[in-house]
Amino acid sequence: MLIAMSSVKERFLRYVQVETTSCEANACCPSTPGQRALAEMLVRELRELGVTDARVDENSYVYGSIPAKGAPEHPALGLIAHMDTSDAVPGATRPRVIPAYAGGPISLENGVVIDGFDFLDSLKGQELIVTSGDSVLGADDKAGVAEIMTLCERLLRPDAPAHGKICVAFTPDEEIGRGTDFFDLEAFGADFAYTVDGGALGELEYECFNAASARVTVQGVSIHPGSAKNQMKNASLIAMEFASLLPPWERPEHTEGYEGFYHLTEMSGNEEQAELKYILRDHDSARFEERKRALPAAADFLNARYGQGTVTVSLKDSYRNMKEIVLAHPEVLERARRAFEQNGLTPVMTPIRGGTDGAQLSFRGLPCPNLSTGGYNFHGRKELIPVPAMEKMVDVLLSLVSAG
Ligand SMILES: [Zn+2]
Repeated sequence: MLIAMSSVKERFLRYVQVETTSCEANACCPSTPGQRALAEMLVRELRELGVTDARVDENSYVYGSIPAKGAPEHPALGLIAHMDTSDAVPGATRPRVIPAYAGGPISLENGVVIDGFDFLDSLKGQELIVTSGDSVLGADDKAGVAEIMTLCERLLRPDAPAHGKICVAFTPDEEIGRGTDFFDLEAFGADFAYTVDGGALGELEYECFNAASARVTVQGVSIHPGSAKNQMKNASLIAMEFASLLPPWERPEHTEGYEGFYHLTEMSGNEEQAELKYILRDHDSARFEERKRALPAAADFLNARYGQGTVTVSLKDSYRNMKEIVLAHPEVLERARRAFEQNGLTPVMTPIRGGTDGAQLSFRGLPCPNLSTGGYNFHGRKELIPVPAMEKMVDVLLSLVSAG
């Protein structure tokens, strides 16, 4: 039997053992060689399945398509997952399978215990895949990869339902914010798409933050402290003053849901020069613009006090909320909602407090909400995924792509 013919569980276990942690410090694409290895593995498997145009480009983006069957008039539907894993913890995964979860705490190696999560009770009796305790599991997003691969296998069987053209893509370096830098929309060929990169079953996400970053520089005047009276302008203290002008309740540690924030990510300085780095986030585009105005306004206030040119702010937009794009194509959301409901799942639509590759693609003309993978506790040693959740997502994807 060909290795490509396997269950979603077997595929998942195979993919998570390839080390694909992405690395921000490396400028190349993919940022780490393991991602190339996984990309090549996926192309081989896609070809074995019968995806004859499966290919990997020089940046390790994998593309492939399945021609329409019985529904040539249908628009081309795309499915996307990312191959890299977060560098928050090591990525060389030795997955462990728990055949039937009995409930209660799950003890891993190294004293790591999965406990105290509300969702655990609902997983009793299910087959779970957990980490050994020394790495991420990589369900984010190899569960998405395994589910899309398994869907391809199902679509190439003789008993597959009618469907339009299906385009699949696997991308590198999502976790370091570069997942769509070299995404070739034309090569991909879809009219609309979904990333399969969410958490618990039923998640359907189409709202994310509007995002910008800011660099605040303070130019002080340094003089020997013994003769500094009425002369010194201490850049570090002025920087602290700047920080104090932003509302403390609008920080990540005090916000949730649709609440935006100013987040100080870095600071450095001495008497002569200081620098602050911020990220700004808000779902609402009007409030986002207000946030972007608040920083120069704080600088103006300080410049009036300490002299023009003391504080300068430079702002840079990062990504935008895809909501407006996706809502302009209600059929894309409706299709996903129906697919979940046809499989007994209630779609859960919560705003993402971050960005997604789908947001970038939406603004490049490809409406692209995000679907669940079925996994939990991403980016940590306590990451886990139930096997039945992955199987369910394959069914959801099959409903999603089916015509009629
Ligand atoms: Zn992800």
